[in-house]
Amino acid sequence: MTLPHEHVFMDLYEITMNSHLILCDPEVARYELGFFKECGGSTIVDQTVHGLGSDPEALREVARDVGINIIAGTGFYWEKFHPPWLRDMTGRDIAAMLVKDLAEGFYGTDVRAGILGEIGTHHRRISAAEERVIRACAVAQRETGVPISTHALFTRIGMEQVRLFEEAGANLDKLVIGHVDTTPDVDYHLELLRRGVWIAYDAIGQLDKQTDERRADAIVRLIGAGYRDRILLSTDVGKRGAMRSYGGTGYDHVITRFLPLLWERGISKDDTTALTVDNPRRLFSGS
Ligand SMILES: [Zn+2]
Repeated sequence: MTLPHEHVFMDLYEITMNSHLILCDPEVARYELGFFKECGGSTIVDQTVHGLGSDPEALREVARDVGINIIAGTGFYWEKFHPPWLRDMTGRDIAAMLVKDLAEGFYGTDVRAGILGEIGTHHRRISAAEERVIRACAVAQRETGVPISTHALFTRIGMEQVRLFEEAGANLDKLVIGHVDTTPDVDYHLELLRRGVWIAYDAIGQLDKQTDERRADAIVRLIGAGYRDRILLSTDVGKRGAMRSYGGTGYDHVITRFLPLLWERGISKDDTTALTVDNPRRLFSGS
């Protein structure tokens, strides 16, 4: 069972001045991921990109200690979180750096990334700097074949992301539009799916964005429309409050709380295995 969009180590304090966004303690990470493993979880995709305080070596250690797989992401989040050095890089420089992260290892380490994501844009528009990153990701994807995953919060900005990625030559069959469940308009989700991309219900458990019951109703509708094999489920844990250590429901929320909502609605175990096991596997293997 894979969670395709999470964060294990992240530190956004300097940009947000919010101490809930400091996740840097390996002991907490081991404790939290231990619950995930106990509930049957096997793989976490950590989409903490440059500028968000990622820690590839700590990820490798924690994965080894807990006995799960962690796939690390590379790329850039939305412009507010771009590291200052990104400004001086050309699109070609950015693409070369991303390919290096994917093929050889993050700077100074031999830990390789396995996905381009989460690639961010503003929620109402895509800035020039964000567009440059999108184009560089398309180039890096063509060279390496990895999936791309985006941050598309609250609006229909995912449609614009698809348009730009397509124009830049990205493989839409390996493009995931993220956070679509923060925009509860199922017609928008269907519109994305008809463009040939994947969609991620990856804010499950974040009740300030939508209730899990409404998410479950929407997934029933999407499966009914024939899109079971294009949907991913995750929780985007990224705040202390989402973790069990601080009163949250942790990385096992999808398994322990959300899948039962789907079963209650008549979704079969085969279907939920497709959503949580087969779909992520297919996205990463390309078959
Ligand atoms: Zn995220």
